[in-house]
Amino acid sequence: MTHLLSKSKYIRGLQCERALWLDVHEPRLARYTAEQMRRFDRGRDFEYAFKSRFPDGIDLSAELGRNVDLYPARTAELLDLRPGSTAKTVLFEAGFLYDDVLVLADVVHQNTDGTLDIYEVKSGTTLSDTYRRDAALQHYVISHCRRVNSFSIVYNGLDGVNGANGQGGPFAIVDLTAELTAEGDRIAANIAEMKTIVRATAEPDTPTGQHCLTPYACPYQHHCQQGVRQLSLFG
Ligand code: SF4
Repeated sequence: MTHLLSKSKYIRGLQCERALWLDVHEPRLARYTAEQMRRFDRGRDFEYAFKSRFPDGIDLSAELGRNVDLYPARTAELLDLRPGSTAKTVLFEAGFLYDDVLVLADVVHQNTDGTLDIYEVKSGTTLSDTYRRDAALQHYVISHCRRVNSFSIVYNGLDGVNGANGQGGPFAIVDLTAELTAEGDRIAANIAEMKTIVRATAEPDTPTGQHCLTPYACPYQHHCQQGVRQLSLFG
């Protein structure tokens, strides 16, 4: 089954409906700076370091690569493999699909009662609102597919938080389960609105502004500013 939205598109849509539409219909127009690419790489390195704590983890991306629509079925297969067993299953990049939204969870730890502990890994040194919004979508989708015992964000604890909670290493782990559970209705409403945006055939005419820079520098600024220049030339 194919998906309409992903976590990255949802986050894009929270920033700007035009950016969401472009992500779906004209992704080739995106331009990332060298610094943005380096940040992606740093994020991946931090994520790999956390995953190395689970030596028996099964990495779905190694098996399925970019075929992301295959991830949910394979995830379900692996989670259902050992019902009643005392063995625990740990999956990396486990896929879940609900309400036309596909999410891939960084680390999914299946407990012996079948419930899941989810870890979403972020390389930033603070627990930002964007991380919380990102986690809220993941929790919404996954909890409609499986019983979630806990949902935690793992971030870079070099600021000392880690020392306080005794997790060890640079990883600060914060359980947000209660907070995320309360977000369900708002997430459902956002998804409904975003599905209408991506199904539209015409690009929204959202003007540029401060929202183009926060929380992320939008990769479509060149495209949108070009439109502004053309309008000023011919308007
Ligand atoms: S540059 Fe600004 S207006 Fe254009 S898609 Fe990005 S956020 Fe939206």
